[in-house]
Amino acid sequence: RAKALGRGQHQVFDPVMHTRALQLLQLETDLRRAIQQQEFVVHYQPIVELNHNQLVGFEALVRWHHPQHGLLSPAIFIPVAEETGLITQIGHWVLGEACQQLCKWQQGNLDGPNLSISVNLSARQVAQLDLVKQIDQVLADTQVNPQALKLEITESVIMENPQSASVMFQELRERQIQLSIDDFGTGYSSLSYLHSFPLNILKVDRSFVQRMTDSSEGSGLVPLIINIAHSLGLTVVAEGIETAQQLAQLKALNCDCGQGYLFSKPLTVEQATELIVKTPPWLDSNLNSVPLAE
Ligand code: C2E
Ligand code: MG
Ligand code: MG
Ligand code: MG
Repeated sequence: RAKALGRGQHQVFDPVMHTRALQLLQLETDLRRAIQQQEFVVHYQPIVELNHNQLVGFEALVRWHHPQHGLLSPAIFIPVAEETGLITQIGHWVLGEACQQLCKWQQGNLDGPNLSISVNLSARQVAQLDLVKQIDQVLADTQVNPQALKLEITESVIMENPQSASVMFQELRERQIQLSIDDFGTGYSSLSYLHSFPLNILKVDRSFVQRMTDSSEGSGLVPLIINIAHSLGLTVVAEGIETAQQLAQLKALNCDCGQGYLFSKPLTVEQATELIVKTPPWLDSNLNSVPLAE
């Protein structure tokens, strides 16, 4: 490779890139160990129905309890897990763990029957030929009602495997498993697939919710996205609600559900269980005024 650059030219050794490569290699090694040693944990972020301020479910979000570096965010390791293919094992574990937890909440009579669990799927998982079989197995093992399971897929995951995604979605629909399009508006954004794929839920990306209250832009694209989603029969979930003002606007726009730090950050199992047992003030369906959280 260096030779191809020709006489008199040197391939520059880039210490930054070298360090980065070593870090990635270390991360991959660590990830393999983490899978073996079960160093992952799932946190649960509440999803709230905006009309009645009612808790309707949780999104399962993976974290890594790294022995040296502490609790790591998925933003740090999911990309490497994707690249190395290790995401299929991690994703399978998260699905099993989340369904098992939902089952526990239901068995504890914690109002669980009405709760749903949302699980993120990566492109690599969608490309797996036996994914639906894996999901069937997890549902059978945990006794979770398929209607209580929501699978989140980003636009780019669909666009990377339109064929296998289409077949898979059809099989999931036959089982009444719910399908969400995650981070809507950040991907390839082709409106045509929105109605050609059997989707149930559209999650408006946090960036649109944030820009909604920027005075310069008015409410931006959010009203349009909500209208299109509703006209296609989709339920709308707004991501990343952080202020009471954003919430008020979303309610005025008839947005169905919301998720964000205003309600709650992702919680440990214990915290999530406590939330289900002791209804916090912002989940009181008799209240018209909202959140005290933050
Ligand atoms: P996502 O699926 O869009 O999940 C929402 C992310 O937004 C979460 O970040 C959540 O903590 C964060 N968030 C929620 N509300 C707010 C808010 O009000 N403000 C701000 N600033 N952030 C908020 P998290 O947990 O770090 O996850 C990041 C991404 O990692 C997820 O985005 C998802 O794409 C991926 N991910 C997480 N768990 C899994 C998993 O089990 N499998 C796969 N394939 N991906 C996962
Ligand atoms: Mg998600
Ligand atoms: Mg999202
Ligand atoms: Mg997101």
